[in-house]
Amino acid sequence: MKQLAKQIPADATLFDDLGLTVASREPLAHHTWLGVGGEARYFCEPVDIDALSRLVIRARETGIALRMIGGGSNILIPTAGFDGMIVRLSAPAFSTIEVRNTSVIAGAGAKLVHVVCAAVQAGLSGIETLVGIPGTIGGALVGNAGGHGGDLGESVKEVTVMLPTGQLAVRRGTELAFQSRWSNLDDCIVIGCQLDLDEDSAELLTKRMQKQWIVGRSEQPSGTRTVAMMFKDPHGTSAESLITQAGAKDLRVGEAMVYAAHANYVVVFPKCSSDDVRLLVELVRSKVRERLGVELTPQIEVW
Ligand SMILES: Cc1cc2nc3c(=O)[nH]c(=O)nc-3n(C[C@H](O)[C@H](O)[C@H](O)COP(=O)(O)OP(=O)(O)OC[C@H]3O[C@@H](n4cnc5c(N)ncnc54)[C@H](O)[C@@H]3O)c2cc1C
Repeated sequence: MKQLAKQIPADATLFDDLGLTVASREPLAHHTWLGVGGEARYFCEPVDIDALSRLVIRARETGIALRMIGGGSNILIPTAGFDGMIVRLSAPAFSTIEVRNTSVIAGAGAKLVHVVCAAVQAGLSGIETLVGIPGTIGGALVGNAGGHGGDLGESVKEVTVMLPTGQLAVRRGTELAFQSRWSNLDDCIVIGCQLDLDEDSAELLTKRMQKQWIVGRSEQPSGTRTVAMMFKDPHGTSAESLITQAGAKDLRVGEAMVYAAHANYVVVFPKCSSDDVRLLVELVRSKVRERLGVELTPQIEVW
């Protein structure tokens, strides 16, 4: 391992011969909703599958840790940043959306809201309740995004993934597991998926989607992007009501505070640090535990 580390140049020249654009010391705050956190040692937005595969193989050969980022709406980057390669599938090759009969085939980089709209316009039902959830299909598959109206996993037929070897594989049936805000897709890179949906009236679906959009907006903070959802809803109740009951909706740590009108969200102010957010989430969790005896599970992923 020591020998390997010696071969790793400190800058992105390590990837020069791969024909990829790799940035060094990329501020990850630019790529997340909360806008806090440090830099990634390397950052790349590959143009296609071949480029991604070359990158994955090189990272593996050189022992460089690689992590994916989607819309950045569910991650908290520490101040120290990430000492490895961050990959974002923002290129058009990864963001395609195609409707085929009653299926929608979407790339991991496509925005969830665009996929929902494409399905609704084609008269396909099953995912219209997900319309207000920010982020990409990749992030939504990994975390099985959803709410009271259901989750994405319920409509997934198959998922195309890239393995750490740089090879593609298709997972379906028993190879896939989705639970509340969880999937078993945390060991691979999600490339895209096929959703199997039901035929319905596009007009009715549009109305349902618009209604859901309005309900969603009323349940979420609006007018700011610097927010994140703190906790998963426990079975049979909501994290928001528990936070309110525990008297924790006015808590603040540094420049991060609970968004009082929607107490399951944290909102940050301009000089906020990653530690402020992490400590606030821990504080709210401990208040709910102390006062109500309930252990909340964080929704936001702390890296
Ligand atoms: C205002 C607001 C409202 C929200 N409402 C909801 C809600 O109602 N329901 C809900 O479930 N969530 C909700 N969330 C949380 C969040 O939007 C979802 O978890 C969303 O699916 C995350 O997608 P993303 O693309 O932003 O993922 P990111 O935050 O970028 O990443 C999340 C995880 O997925 C991984 N990942 C991303 N792309 C890939 C890929 N291609 N391959 C492998 N791994 C990948 C990342 O490494 C990370 O581990 C909300 C968040 C906000 C800020």
